[in-house]
Amino acid sequence: MSTPTVPATRGTLTPDHLTSDRLPAWQLTPAQRNDLRARLVQQRRFRLDQLAGLEAGAERNDEIAQSLTAAARAALHDVTEALQRMDEGSYGSCAACGRALPLERLELLPQVSRCAACLQSAQT
Ligand SMILES: [Zn+2]
Repeated sequence: MSTPTVPATRGTLTPDHLTSDRLPAWQLTPAQRNDLRARLVQQRRFRLDQLAGLEAGAERNDEIAQSLTAAARAALHDVTEALQRMDEGSYGSCAACGRALPLERLELLPQVSRCAACLQSAQT
């Protein structure tokens, strides 16, 4: 009489580091990466200047100034996160589904974090 047992070695054959998929499916060239990083840094500076200007006029406290501030903060947040992803090595893949973002999309919007399909499903 023999009862089937699960082989003890089974679990050890799955390397955990292969399942944590943080790298994009394609790699940016160093020149492309530097170019996108420079644009992100430039945008961050622009948004910081914009927020400083809006805060200087904060006594105006009207709805337009408030929505401008909110939009500038959101944009600054996106840009800062994109720079963080670049440092972590996850830049270039969709934050939601993990698929590689097309380079044309990154060139248009370097701070974008999701592919078109995921952005669309988040908006509905
Ligand atoms: Zn996606």
